Amino acid sequence: LKTVALILGDQLNASHSWFQQTDDERLFVLMEIRQETDYCRHHVQKVVGFFAAMRKFASALAEAGHRVLYLTLDNQDNQQSITSNLEAICKTTQACQVQLQQPDEYRLDEQLQHWAETVVDSLNVRVDWFDSEHFITQRSVLQDWFGEQDNYVMEHFYRRVRKQTGYLMNGDKPEGGKWNYDHDNRKTPKSGHDYPTPLLFAHDVSEIHQLLLDSGIDTLGEIDSKQFIWPLSRREAKELLTDFVERLLPNFGDYQDAMVTGQWSLYHSRLSFALNTKMLAPKQVVDAAIQAWQNNPKAISLNQIEGFIRQIIGWREFVRAIYWQFMPNYGERNHLNHKRQLPDFYWNGETQMNCLEKSIRQSLDYAYAHHIQRLMITGNFALLAGCDPDAVDAWYLGIYIDAIEWVELPNTRGMSQYADGGILATKPYVSSGSYIHKMSDYCTDCHYDVKRKTGEGACPFNLLYWHFIDRHFEQLQGNGRMGLILKQWEKRSEEDKKQITQEAEEFLASL
Ligand code: FAD
Ligand code: SF4
Repeated sequence: LKTVALILGDQLNASHSWFQQTDDERLFVLMEIRQETDYCRHHVQKVVGFFAAMRKFASALAEAGHRVLYLTLDNQDNQQSITSNLEAICKTTQACQVQLQQPDEYRLDEQLQHWAETVVDSLNVRVDWFDSEHFITQRSVLQDWFGEQDNYVMEHFYRRVRKQTGYLMNGDKPEGGKWNYDHDNRKTPKSGHDYPTPLLFAHDVSEIHQLLLDSGIDTLGEIDSKQFIWPLSRREAKELLTDFVERLLPNFGDYQDAMVTGQWSLYHSRLSFALNTKMLAPKQVVDAAIQAWQNNPKAISLNQIEGFIRQIIGWREFVRAIYWQFMPNYGERNHLNHKRQLPDFYWNGETQMNCLEKSIRQSLDYAYAHHIQRLMITGNFALLAGCDPDAVDAWYLGIYIDAIEWVELPNTRGMSQYADGGILATKPYVSSGSYIHKMSDYCTDCHYDVKRKTGEGACPFNLLYWHFIDRHFEQLQGNGRMGLILKQWEKRSEEDKKQITQEAEEFLASL
């Protein structure tokens, strides 16, 4: 045997050129390891989902005639670390070459780079690196296109990707004449709206779940291990994609920001797990969506398709580029110097704030929340309350099935917590209760009164919003997009200001 080729849990890309031909001299290696289950407290569905998808991927490779070594968590030869396992496998197989795909996480990149440097001499093997053949842009794209800057604007990046790929372009002009139709995408469903039921799978993953329990792995959240709902293979991921473009895409843009009690995924695709494990490629997703739109432009209007394409070729590629441009320091930024612990209710949903209760409960139940729940409910609250971005990051990295650091970190620390000081977002995403009331039905069933700004029963978001503005008044002064709000606060009477900040502080002390 000549070659050992490592496949990480988020490299389940069946279209990769590695798999185009079988080769008896090459052994593909996949491993379930404590290194990955333990670097953060993950949602139980996330760990089970990764292991189950890896197992299916390994079986599919073997069926296609490839040589595969799969180390289960309880295999007695498993040393529970990527590099220790790799080293042992190289020794027993006497391979002279190791093949690695570039990892997407800085942590793993460092580990493997370091190992590759040392192993060349000690084991006398050659290490070759390969692209993961997944993304549309390169890691270094921001540097390549815009040079060294203190901050980058997603919209500029997005337009450049549109031009380069030709997606939604008419020659060199954007389809329909506008680059962005976000303004059309702020609808909330009327009462009596006929909601779509999400396509769910029903895998029996109880064996893997039991393995986690027997191994004493500390997880969070709930699982129905007899009916696991997430796609675990490329075929299922494609099924989910087809269902999305046919049934949900026609309303995707319209209700993208809406939040409705009991409707945990609305018109969202729930493709993030399939994409981030690379069971699906972004190009495949975009092609399917554009095809559906071209086949049926009457049902899928331009604002729906543009809104969706922007998420995939815009935001997703952009946050990855930010990650690689600013790591490793990005993960340590705390621009607003926030230090508060994340309240306990983030782990059990036990709070009288209905919007938080619903969004957190749903995250614990499904390992999923859609973007506006993540940004404007849980993220908004953590930012207003001044929670430590390290704690906020750890929570987001653990709780969602799609959470891998390259995508979680810029979204959390940058977009949601403004801890990067505006590298990624032009202003902090904060709101009082009125935005939540406008975009959701949560307030109608809440212990608090969204209309009350102060006093008994006042919505905590109303108090905390102004407390945040007051706390960071000076820091926010240079930001043109915050100017109006700052003026509003300045105009308030001293008495008003005192009452609000005092009540906000009492609330914070009660957390
Ligand atoms: P849809 O609404 O159907 O969107 C389609 C796809 O677009 C998603 O599957 C995703 O691949 C992509 N996308 C949309 N918005 C973003 C974005 N801001 N960044 C990157 N990709 C995006 N996404 C993750 O994949 N992993 C994370 O760990 C993650 N953490 C987040 C943390 C916070 C605080 C916030 C505000 C957002 C986070 N996101 C993360 C982005 C986004 O919320 C999820 O991608 C989305 O909710 C996944 O659900 P969906 O597949 O139904 O998405
Ligand atoms: Fe959330 Fe305030 Fe509305 Fe209650 S009243 S659901 S706390 S925004």
